[in-house]
Amino acid sequence: MLRVKQFFCEELKIDSDYIIRRMIIPHCARGPRRCEKCRIMAEEKKICLVKFYFESGNVTRPMDEFVIDGKTGLYEYDVLKIFKDENEAKEYARKNTITLDL
Ligand SMILES: [Zn+2]
Repeated sequence: MLRVKQFFCEELKIDSDYIIRRMIIPHCARGPRRCEKCRIMAEEKKICLVKFYFESGNVTRPMDEFVIDGKTGLYEYDVLKIFKDENEAKEYARKNTITLDL
């Protein structure tokens, strides 16, 4: 059991390094201040399947600050899947035993 707290969010308890939650999909590294597509995407949170990585790989992944097992740090994550609605997310969470945080 991992304890995950995203900046400005409630502490979450997750059973693995996967979680389904609403989040803003990063478009690129420039961010909403400098990129119009980022600005558009920042307005809408999508329901996503997210995987955390606890060791950096050779791939460039988005990073965000999380508290995992009491340790604050910048962790890499990937958005593996975007669900079209809550029902689809719930069904997927049930089938795959993934923590749902909607
Ligand atoms: Zn962008």
